[in-house]
Amino acid sequence: MSSAADLFIEEARAVSIAEAAERLGVAGLKPSGTGESVGPCPTCGGTDRFSINTTKNAWNCRGSVNGGGRDAISLAAHLGGHAVKGRDGFLAACADVLGRQVPDGEPETEGARAAREARLAQVRAVSAAKAARQQSEAGAYRDRERAKARGKWGASAELAAAAGTMVRRYLALRLGGHALPALPFLRALGAEPYWQGDDEAGRSVAIHEGPAMVAPFVDPQGAVMGCHLTWIDLAAPKARPLLRQGAEPLATKKMRGSKMGGLIPLVGWSFAPPLSGKPLAGASGDRIVPEPGRTRLVIGEGIENTLAVGIAEGFRRDTLYAAAGDLGNLAGPADPKCNFAHPSLTRPDVNGKLRALRVQGPVPKPGQGPGDAVQVPGQVDELLLIADGDSEPFATGAAMLRAKARLETAHRVVAIAWPPAGADFADLLTRRSEAA
Ligand SMILES: [Zn+2]
Repeated sequence: MSSAADLFIEEARAVSIAEAAERLGVAGLKPSGTGESVGPCPTCGGTDRFSINTTKNAWNCRGSVNGGGRDAISLAAHLGGHAVKGRDGFLAACADVLGRQVPDGEPETEGARAAREARLAQVRAVSAAKAARQQSEAGAYRDRERAKARGKWGASAELAAAAGTMVRRYLALRLGGHALPALPFLRALGAEPYWQGDDEAGRSVAIHEGPAMVAPFVDPQGAVMGCHLTWIDLAAPKARPLLRQGAEPLATKKMRGSKMGGLIPLVGWSFAPPLSGKPLAGASGDRIVPEPGRTRLVIGEGIENTLAVGIAEGFRRDTLYAAAGDLGNLAGPADPKCNFAHPSLTRPDVNGKLRALRVQGPVPKPGQGPGDAVQVPGQVDELLLIADGDSEPFATGAAMLRAKARLETAHRVVAIAWPPAGADFADLLTRRSEAA
């Protein structure tokens, strides 16, 4: 074996990933964590499939058959389309790493280069087709889930119907028996299964079945894009069933279809015909839109809390009442640069050492799209955000400030309503009625 070629290989093995990436013209990656940068793959494209980690001296590509590697030679092989199983391909990858020709080697023939470029072109075509297929499958899946959620809501009983009795009694229990306006968008299901996990055969398991309240999520055009389910047990605390998996308590609320960017209309909204001539993705039938003249919006995480504030202020005729479903949809994503350490809460790291819990900060992530968090109708110039007082105060506080910063404009004022510590507004109503 030629010692010149062996020395050449040895030299290529010593090159770091960082150095080779620069020599091979890897560009457009964004920093993401210690030593890591992420972005499109120069060979097979995508948006975030490719990463290099200069601390671990590793690279990775989700479009590569081998996934990635811990040396510059395998990186050069992926980027240059070299077949490293053969000695010629391996030496060619080393040549790319070092930026010079193989010693004593024949320069790559026209035919060999054409074959290598054809291989590269095929890798690119296969991964472009795969990406397109994944995107359309994800879109089709989302559309199916949206249609199922819309169907579930559309097929459930109105509150005024006999089947709605359980939900009316639930709301009366949670809201101190105060009178409520008509709630045409809240519906009832008599026996809704609660799916949690799979059995050994991979089938979904219903760990509970019982009455549930169903509410729609509507997108900014008013089309129903998802639904929100709340299971009810009138005999249980807060009138919701105690659901557990092992020792872990489970949420008694679930969302189906899409939620992010949508809201749950409660009071002040009306049915409207579908947008003609411009079909929305997966939309059918009626839309739910804000009534004209209502320029104020009261919005909280939960349905019950928002209704409690409506009761307290007499459901103003200038106001739209809506729920965001959860804090993430209300607040939107945070700018990670402004996340902070919790002053007292800790969590063990991978080595078991206790570290301060990281809390998402009060600054919205720049460049958000309409699907990242709840959108406010254009007619609204005054906004009241309802905070939950029974959640962790630092994270909730930062999230509410983030929602305020995100939704405040030159034409819209935003205020936050805080309940007393440890309570939410619905609790206040029931306490008041118990005391009365
Ligand atoms: Zn790749």
